[in-house]
Parts: sequence; structure tokens; C-alpha cells
Amino acid sequence: MERRVFLQGLALPCILGAAESDARFIAEAKFYEKLPYRKIKCKLCPRECVIDDRERGYCGVRENRGGVYYTLVHSRVCAQHADPVEKKPLFHFLPGSMAYSVATAGCNVNCKMCQNWDISQSRPEQVNAEYLPPKNLAAAAKQSRCASIAYTYSEPVVFLEYVLDAAEAGRAAGVKSVVISGGYVQPEPLKELCRRVDAIKIDLKAYSEKFYREVVNGEMKPVLNALVAIRKAGVWSEIVYLVVPTLNDSDDEFRGLARWVKTELGPDVPVHFSRFHPEYLLKNLPPTPLATLERAKAVCDAEGLRYVYLGNVPGHPAENTYCPKCRRVVVERTGFIVRGMALDAGKCRYCHQPVPGVWDGASRV
Ligand code: SF4
Repeated sequence: MERRVFLQGLALPCILGAAESDARFIAEAKFYEKLPYRKIKCKLCPRECVIDDRERGYCGVRENRGGVYYTLVHSRVCAQHADPVEKKPLFHFLPGSMAYSVATAGCNVNCKMCQNWDISQSRPEQVNAEYLPPKNLAAAAKQSRCASIAYTYSEPVVFLEYVLDAAEAGRAAGVKSVVISGGYVQPEPLKELCRRVDAIKIDLKAYSEKFYREVVNGEMKPVLNALVAIRKAGVWSEIVYLVVPTLNDSDDEFRGLARWVKTELGPDVPVHFSRFHPEYLLKNLPPTPLATLERAKAVCDAEGLRYVYLGNVPGHPAENTYCPKCRRVVVERTGFIVRGMALDAGKCRYCHQPVPGVWDGASRV
């Protein structure tokens, strides 16, 4: 089943109906600056939208009302589902656990290959949503036996106030929080996010400003800065790179990415090369050939990255985690299923080499 159809199916039982007031979803935004004439400047993402009274920013989920800026999507959940954390994908974070995954409408970029464009490119009024305040979300996660809440499917940066409050409620209830984001965010909100959540997966869309400009409608530099800041904050992070045939699949780009990761983040940050399927505005391109994914991995392996995975190719050996010293399998996976683990307190069972990650609640970054 297509992911979009699946998400729509999830949203349908959650219909609240336009008749209900939306006041419950509105909260003052956290990161903005007041300007003369009741204008505001949003300081949440590098777009820094300047917004007149009664107007919204680019993401469509934040509105200036009389010189005060509001989020319209606090607790306004349009998709919710318990997923394996491997589906996010996070491979070094509580393997085999479930993540209670939620989204609201809206996004601060417009990727031509977006898999969830029907919610990411919609305004809040255009999608069915449920009122799910932070405490209820934490309770739902616990009830579903999820170790974490995942803010995912669309772009958590544009519903940051909800993420911060829900992560706090989750912590109080003993549930962790993981963020699945494009990383197009300003340093201050990112700092606050890092204080509240336990892992962040960044979709690095390419290693080229041209791709960001032409395919994403964003910029790469702020995303690279965000990755460095997350690493410095000591929050567990992983990178996903969706390989789009002809657009971001050259050896030079893979090599540039690998060298940047190794230098700026270190060789232990997992990098997942994921298979593209024709979607949204890039239906003219074929799925990524397996040989291209394997080439990406070979380039990064040769550059010294220690944990390079392939995604959307169930059954491939590059889904497993290998001990960097003795090369034996320490986490065996098929698709999103964990088949076996040979890690004791974060160390390889065979040679005792530490493997970085959050394996049992303790972070070993
Ligand atoms: S979060 Fe939305 S309103 Fe704020 S700068 Fe980014 S796109 Fe504009």
C-alpha cells in the first residue's frame, strides 16, 4: 500500500470536523520577533518569513494575528501510528522498539520527491486532524508499548511548540522522543529541541546547494550546521540520504558527503542510503537501481565511515550492523524487523568493541 494512502487511512477515523473550534490548536509561537506596523519576523527556520497581520508564513501553519505570532497546529495531529523505530529509520536507537509516530500538516520546504506531500504541503484546515494534547500523546505511546514518540511524516520544525511540550510530557511518563526532520532550522530553536529529545534523524537531501535550490526549495548549509550542532549537543543522530537517480547520485557527491561527515561529525554517525520511488513531482524518474545504492555505500566505506546502511531494500546485508573491529553482525535486521542482537551494554558480544548508540536507555555517543 502506498504510504500516502496508508496515512490517509489513519487520518480518517480521526475526523473532528470543521464544526469544532480550532482554538485548542492555537498557541503563541516561541521563536519570532515583533516588527513595526504589527508585522513579525519568524525566527524558527532560516527562511525568516516577514509576515503582515492576518498572513501566514511559507509553511502555512503559523499566523500573525494583530502582531502576535501563533502556531495553528499545537496538538493538531493528522497522522498517528505505532511504527518500528527502524522505519524512521533509526538503527542505533533502542533496536526492536516501537515509536508512536505523529504528524501535523505543514513543511518549511517543498521537496519534489516528497512521499507525504498531501500532509506536508497542506494547510491545517485541509487535512483531517485529531486533538491530541501532550499528556494524551504520552499516554497513547505508553498504552501502545512504545519506547518513544516520533515526530515524523511531515516536518516537526514547523510544529516545534507541540514537539517541545509533548517531549516534556513523554519524559515525565518515561517515554523518549525522537525527531525525524529535514534539519532546516535556526540554531536557537534547535538548541531547545536538543535539550528535550533523545535522538534526531536528519534527512540530508543531497550534498549540493544546487539540489537544495532546485529540488528542495531550501538551502544545504543550515542543515549541515544543524547536524554539527546536534552532534555537539550530544544528542544521538543519524543521517538519511534518499538517492534520486540522475539528481544526487554521483560518486563525487557521495565522496563529498562522506568526507564532510567524517571530518565534521566523526565516522560513527550512521548514514542510510535510501531507495527512491517515483513520487509527487518526480514521477518521471525510475526507482534507484540497487547498484547505485551499493556504489554509494562502497564510496563511503572506502572513506572510512563505519556504519553505512542501505534502506528500502529489505533483505540486503547492508541492513545489518557490523562490529567495526571483528566485523561480525551485532544487530541483524530484515526490513524493519530486528532478527537478533549480539550487543552487551553497547559492546560487541564477540570482541567487546563498543558500538555507539542508545542501546538500552544509555547513550554512548
Ligand atoms: S517556520 Fe514557517 S513561518 Fe517560520 S520562517 Fe520557516 S517557513 Fe517561515
